[in-house]
Amino acid sequence: MIFDNPFAQAGNWYKANLHAHTTESDGKLTPADKAIHYRRQGYHVLAITDHNRVTPCRELSASDFICIEGIELGSGRSGTGSTFHVVGMDVPTSVADAATDHPQATLDAIAEAGGVGWIAHPYWSCLVAQDLLGLKNCLGIEVINYGCEIEIGKGISSIHWDDVLVRGEKYLALGVDDGHRCGWDFYGGFTMIKAEELSREAIMAALRKGHFYASAGPLIHDLQVTDEAISVECSPAAAINFMAGDQRGWCIQKENRPPLTGARYLRNGNEKYVRIEVVDETGLRAWSNPVFDA
Ligand SMILES: [Zn+2]
Ligand SMILES: [Zn+2]
Repeated sequence: MIFDNPFAQAGNWYKANLHAHTTESDGKLTPADKAIHYRRQGYHVLAITDHNRVTPCRELSASDFICIEGIELGSGRSGTGSTFHVVGMDVPTSVADAATDHPQATLDAIAEAGGVGWIAHPYWSCLVAQDLLGLKNCLGIEVINYGCEIEIGKGISSIHWDDVLVRGEKYLALGVDDGHRCGWDFYGGFTMIKAEELSREAIMAALRKGHFYASAGPLIHDLQVTDEAISVECSPAAAINFMAGDQRGWCIQKENRPPLTGARYLRNGNEKYVRIEVVDETGLRAWSNPVFDA
């Protein structure tokens, strides 16, 4: 079993938006205004990821809120000719020169610069499994990109995620806004990170270890994982789905009963992976990272 359970770690949960644009690229708000909006909304972490440049933002941090410098780089073409977008977080300004014609080279450059990289919005980018297989230095994908969802309905990439998980990849999944406008595309996708403290170092360490989950609304309160079973506790839900490899897994629906606040799944040991989706009464979801068989 491979799963470093964030709920078993010491520390606190921090709410983060890890993909955001400002007036330093094609966003409508300045970095300072962006930080004010997210801090007032109760977020603890904001990564500013302008296109093809690293926007300095550390000075926008406060005692209860940190800004981390990032970037979004166009990086080559998929099998259908669409453009990969790669996000890098906690990177120096020099990484802006790392735009390449292949996502692997960009991911490598981000890693060499000390950052963490992932593939943005697979559905929006028209990526398929073949485009995503075998990437190294890749934390994973964005399972919810709220801007892509409300702009053209292609922000949720859970099928893309399953397509690569069932083929053996160990990608994790992030929730982000990718907001460009003034409020319209904010607060619909976020990542909850369990870290020892609210510092850049602790947040980045937690991301690297997979101590997080993605959400468009619902919250996961606890996960218990053993070789025999997976139990989840969560905010009120209409359904709790245990998503697994092949035709395994199970969905538990509230039907005519009060909302669910937890569920338990008995593992059979050959699911390849099991990940949890919490679906609330309005259809919004939270996505745990996968528990891999091996
Ligand atoms: Zn993008
Ligand atoms: Zn973006």
